[in-house]
Formats: sequence, C-alpha cells, structure tokens
Amino acid sequence: MAITGPLIDRFGRVHTNLRVSVTDRCNIRCFYCMPAANVRFLPRSEILSFEEITRFVQVCAALGITKVRLTGGEPLVRADLPRLVRMLAAIPGIQDLAMTTNGLLLAEHAEALREAGLHRLNISLDALHEETFQRIARRSGLDKVLQGIDAACRAGFRRIRLNAVAIRGVTEPEIIPLAEFARQRRLELRFIEYMPLDADRKWQPDQVLSGEEIRAVLEQHFGPLVPVPREDPSQPAVDYSYRDGSGVVGFINPVTQPFCHECNRLRITAEGQVRNCLFSTVEWDARRLLREGASDEQIAQLVRDCIAAKMPGHGIDKPDFVRPVRAMFEIGG
Ligand code: SAM
Ligand code: SF4
Repeated sequence: MAITGPLIDRFGRVHTNLRVSVTDRCNIRCFYCMPAANVRFLPRSEILSFEEITRFVQVCAALGITKVRLTGGEPLVRADLPRLVRMLAAIPGIQDLAMTTNGLLLAEHAEALREAGLHRLNISLDALHEETFQRIARRSGLDKVLQGIDAACRAGFRRIRLNAVAIRGVTEPEIIPLAEFARQRRLELRFIEYMPLDADRKWQPDQVLSGEEIRAVLEQHFGPLVPVPREDPSQPAVDYSYRDGSGVVGFINPVTQPFCHECNRLRITAEGQVRNCLFSTVEWDARRLLREGASDEQIAQLVRDCIAAKMPGHGIDKPDFVRPVRAMFEIGG
C-alpha cells in the first residue's frame, strides 16, 4: 500500500516538522531540564540505531515531513553523529536538516557536520557571564560554547541561531550582553520562556520571564524594535529587527502567548516513542514496530494515529494542566 500524507490533525494543522532526539545524555545539567545528579540514562540497547532513525524519517518524509531537527539530550555526545546527518540528508523530501546543541562539543564537530549535510544550527546560550552559566548548567564551559559558536561560523553555517532560556531572578543581567553579542556577530537571537519541563519539577509560573518583559528591556536600551513579518506561519518565534538594521531578535513565548494553534511539530524520543506535543502525556511506540519487522505502512499508520490524537493546545495555563512524566532531556526540545 502506498504511504499517503499529509499529516493533518483534527484542527487542520498540517505537520511538516519532525524533532528527533538522538540521546537523553548530556555533558551539562541545566536546572530547567535535568536533575543535578543520579540521572538514570537509557541503556544503549533501548536507543534507536541510526538505521532505525533513518527508516522512521523516511516514512515521515513520505507522509509530508520536510524539516528535521536533531536534538536530545545533547546530540553531540552521541558518537559518530555526522554519519546520521549524512544518512538523513540523503532522504528525498527532507529540505531542511537542523540541529539544536549546547555548543560544548561544536568546535570539534562543526566542520564534519557541515560536510555531512547539516543545513542549520541552533546553539543554546543563556548567559555570557560564567557565574550565570554555571548557576544554570551546574557545570563550567562557557568558553567552550563560545569557541563552538566561532567554529560554526567558520565552518560556513548560515543563519546560526542562539537560543536563550529566560528565567526571572537568574538571567535578567544577561539580556543586553546577549543582544550585543548576537548583533556584533550578526547572529539571530531568540529568547525562550521557561516551561514546566524541569526534571526537578520546581518550575513556578513567577519564574517565567516573559518575552514581552524582555522586549521592553531591549527597547529601553536599543530603541523601538520593528516587527518582522513571519516567514513561516508555524514558526514559534515572533521576530523583530533593530532599527539600525543590525540583526533580528525573536521571542518564543510558549507560556504567555501559546502558539499551539499553528503547531506543525511531531517528535520522536531517543528510544523511539512518538509524541505529538512536548507536553503530551501519551506516546506511540515506533521502536517496537521498527524492531518487530513492521511494514512502512504500519509505521506510517502509527504516526497518523499519533497526529490524529493531538490536543488543541498544551494547557499550561489551565487549572487541570498535567505535566508530562518526562523532563525535557527525555523528550528532546
Ligand atoms: N542539549 C541541546 C541544547 O541544550 O541546546 C539540545 C536539547 S535542549 C533540551 C533544547 C532546547 O530546549 C535548548 O535550547 C534548551 O535551552 C531548551 N530547554 C530545555 N529545558 C527547557 C525548559 N524547561 N523551558 C524552556 N526551554 C528549555
Ligand atoms: Fe543538556 Fe540541553 Fe538539557 Fe541543558 S537543555 S541539560 S544542554 S539537554
């Protein structure tokens, strides 16, 4: 039977975007994501192989997925990642292959990733002061991240984006330095609101430093920001440019301005569980199908079932909101 797409859910959202977590492991311990210690990582045998990931992405591409982003955990702690990039870049229909990384290992791998066919990079950078970096990451390493950013620029990646999670009481002093840093290097910067996905389950609504608050701080310093028309209606960020033309700054506001109505994203965890939302409490087991000799059509049907069950929104602001059991590092951000 031919595989037919597109992947349209009950609310008319057409899914073209897949996030693939390649590992739950990480070389730092950001408090908004992982526990400080005693992390129980998945055994190797439970993690999808590169061949299994590639087969799943091939089926998704036949269903209309055109964009793939590798994430984790930290994708660069997975050995031989450029080999996976090469395999995915060769899949017909995948027009955009990107990765989100904390940047710590990027200086070593940027060139190989670019050569393997990775199109785009998002690099997480919450702070430019080592003290704040360590407070968040519970490890040192800011200098390595900065070296990784330089290496990515040298390797020829275009439109490198910096992602900064904003947390009240922690990252306020970082706002202007991050903006200056990105402007000087002509990199896009996006501030992300802190979501209730920390493994310690300590998130509180008042820790959310909203995109609007950050925008006000930036405007006070740089003057009015100019809204940039949306390139892609499903993009989570609202972008602005500086009046002097020195770049773009964006805001991803999942808590204060949910964008679920435009969401076109599907996810697969490192151990092959398919999810229709970061906040989903249900998963579809693709690994079992992949390992039990299922046909492409059976895998496609699992993906369609997952999309068909997608809720209208995450409901963080609703009194009956239920947090997923998994924390961010176990899902893939
Ligand atoms: N390790 C890589 C990294 O940090 O870039 C990729 C995985 S990480 C889970 C993906 C993105 O999610 C990062 O930009 C990270 O800052 C963000 N993130 C993690 N936990 C978050 C939370 N609770 N709220 C908002 N963003 C979060
Ligand atoms: Fe690691 Fe990324 Fe989670 Fe930080 S946000 S602990 S870098 S997976």
